[in-house]
Amino acid sequence: MGEAWRSISQADIFAAHRRIAGAVTRTPLIRAHALSDRLGGEIWFKLESLQPTGAFKLRGATNALSQLPAAAKAAGVVCVSTGNHGRGLAHAGRVLGIRVVVCMSSLVPAVKVEGIRKLGAEVRIHGASQDEAQGEVDRLIAEEGLVEVGPFDDPAVIAGQGTVGLEILEDMAKLDQVVVPLSGGGLISGVALALKTASPAIEVHGVTMAEGAAMYESLRAGHVVEVVEKPTLADCLGGGIGPHNRYTFDIVRHLVDHSWLVDEAAIAGALSWLYHEERLIAEGGAAVGVASLLGGHIAAAGKTTVVVISGRNIDTDKLTAIVAAKPHLTPPIV
Ligand SMILES: *Cc1c(COP(=O)(O)O)cnc(C)c1O
Repeated sequence: MGEAWRSISQADIFAAHRRIAGAVTRTPLIRAHALSDRLGGEIWFKLESLQPTGAFKLRGATNALSQLPAAAKAAGVVCVSTGNHGRGLAHAGRVLGIRVVVCMSSLVPAVKVEGIRKLGAEVRIHGASQDEAQGEVDRLIAEEGLVEVGPFDDPAVIAGQGTVGLEILEDMAKLDQVVVPLSGGGLISGVALALKTASPAIEVHGVTMAEGAAMYESLRAGHVVEVVEKPTLADCLGGGIGPHNRYTFDIVRHLVDHSWLVDEAAIAGALSWLYHEERLIAEGGAAVGVASLLGGHIAAAGKTTVVVISGRNIDTDKLTAIVAAKPHLTPPIV
């Protein structure tokens, strides 16, 4: 295993926290009353869904953009995104006066495309996968001199996402485990670095969808593997971890204790649970932690568990159809 996980420190995460304060919301940690009752533990939600862009990615995007050299700020930035990184970057770019171009595949839901356009960024739809959209990013870098700010495999992005972990520690002196949605691994890398530095005994669980779980498959194989992207309720978790992954694969291998897969029915059940039982709105990829807990993968009885609810940018027609069907009432929830 590599040494990349040593290249981002707790000090970097503290510095990010100071840098982005004021530009991002300091989100609340609230007790999940219904889930705590059901599972017999103390379960808390870190509500990143309450960020102004509806997802935690504003943290990493703001931290990365505010540290760019002046020439890069003048040239503008480009990224590939399943939606939420693009939205975070668009928001941060507007605040900082930096041109932002977001390249997306045709699998990205319309609600996310619109959200980004409304923030004044340019959107290019290119291909049917993240990797194909990356081709357009490479072209814009070569031909227009734009600077890439990626969604996860970037130390400034990881440090920015790690501020979620710092805030959890500030609000909860003692916890046993944290459950974090996992895709490219920027969020869980930052959170794990923050938590494990403070207290190595805290267990870190990553959860992802069974359809196209790139990090999960790469962990199992011991090297980066490509997966076929499929439509999923957890669209924000889609995409590969990059053939030249430098940081997150190594950090996840070192610091994440367990990773779990949840299927589409379990994700729908978790969205429905959050809506009916906790009165919260989340998007599919943000509900995978709840799906994993309800499915019994992660033992919660007698423990203090923090679950990161990472975003809420779900198509409202999709959400209303799910909550009307109340799939959380149909056992078994696995
Ligand atoms: C991007 C995203 C994730 C996954 O984050 P990674 O850093 O790619 O692992 C989880 N939830 C939401 C809402 C996201 O937008």
